[in-house]
Amino acid sequence: MTVRRLEPHATTIFSEVTQLAARVGAVNLGQGFPDTDGPASMIEAAVRAMREGHNQYPPGTGVPELRHAIVAHETEHTGLVHDPDTEVLVTVGATEAIAGAVVGLVEPDDEVVVIEPYYDSYAATVAMAGATRRAARMVRSGDHFRLDVDSLRAAFSPRTRAVLVNTPHNPTGAVLPREDLAQIAALCHEFDAIAISDEVYEHLTYDHNEHVSIATLPGMAERTLRISSAGKMLNCTGWKIGWVTGPAELVAGVRAAKQYMSYTAGTPLQLGVAHALSHEGEWIRTLRDGMQDRRDQLVDILTGVGLDLAVTQGTYFLTADPRPLGVTDAASWCLELPERIGVAAVPFAPFTDSYSDEWSHLVRFAFCKRPGVLEEAGLRLRALAN
Ligand SMILES: *Cc1c(COP(=O)(O)O)cnc(C)c1O
Repeated sequence: MTVRRLEPHATTIFSEVTQLAARVGAVNLGQGFPDTDGPASMIEAAVRAMREGHNQYPPGTGVPELRHAIVAHETEHTGLVHDPDTEVLVTVGATEAIAGAVVGLVEPDDEVVVIEPYYDSYAATVAMAGATRRAARMVRSGDHFRLDVDSLRAAFSPRTRAVLVNTPHNPTGAVLPREDLAQIAALCHEFDAIAISDEVYEHLTYDHNEHVSIATLPGMAERTLRISSAGKMLNCTGWKIGWVTGPAELVAGVRAAKQYMSYTAGTPLQLGVAHALSHEGEWIRTLRDGMQDRRDQLVDILTGVGLDLAVTQGTYFLTADPRPLGVTDAASWCLELPERIGVAAVPFAPFTDSYSDEWSHLVRFAFCKRPGVLEEAGLRLRALAN
């Protein structure tokens, strides 16, 4: 009964693998959520807010404490300066910020450029707006992924209204270098398009890789909506507190859609996140170091059983190529794995337009788990090497 425009997005192998993993008790390295809590002071601040009676609707744009904390945090890390009253909007996770941006700013005649493989909500959101999706792609370059600039140029047209950018990039683990972002920016200028920039992993970059926001490139602050979220930054994916910043006229478009999607959410949780953004910078830095160790732990495990890996520069994820084990169809392999060895991972299928040879052999593993959980996964994965 689902409407035609959403039918292709209604069920994905993602949910299939998740259900399967739960049924057979597999270690789930498919879904990307951490298994430890965020800072204790953040949780205390939310509990205190609840006890002190902050339990009714917040203002439509978000509680002022959080909007101010978002602006200060953003200025500290990017140098961008936004007005907390007109250029910041608190949303129900980054997911609602993305949906609000597309539904509130893209006309049905417009085209939206996405970069394959992409976060699975992008395609569904463009479909909800009734707009047309044009896919560019990432490409393996040496030991990691980069933007395929030719495909990006080919995807832009005079009808392009927006490009959805994601760095650090889920699922490939790439951190887009400034040169790649400059190419996107040049096309935005040429075709008078806006950038909707999903930066939920902005603090999770490893080694020498540095996160750059496309909003900081020359002339881009005027045409970029920058989206982030407490979920990945502060280990509270279940709180669903996200935000978007940008020029007032673009934020107003997001707000027009958002106010009829959820109106608002989570007053005490917003106050908890406001506290953490203002006081837990050190915790966020420590989280990054811990995640890098987890990445290294999973790299050792997966290379040990013979998988070919792309280098993860940021995010929660490792991209693995199981062809050295004789596996060519990652989707059916991922559907077998939970039952066969008790570990779950997801193929790239939900993140692509065309499940072509380019993607059909790739698998995403999440490493945002406690060391003991990864160790257990490692023991089980050894069965693959035999
Ligand atoms: C997790 C994730 C989101 C969703 O964030 P929420 O705050 O949970 O809505 C959006 N984009 C990417 C790339 C993600 O990995």
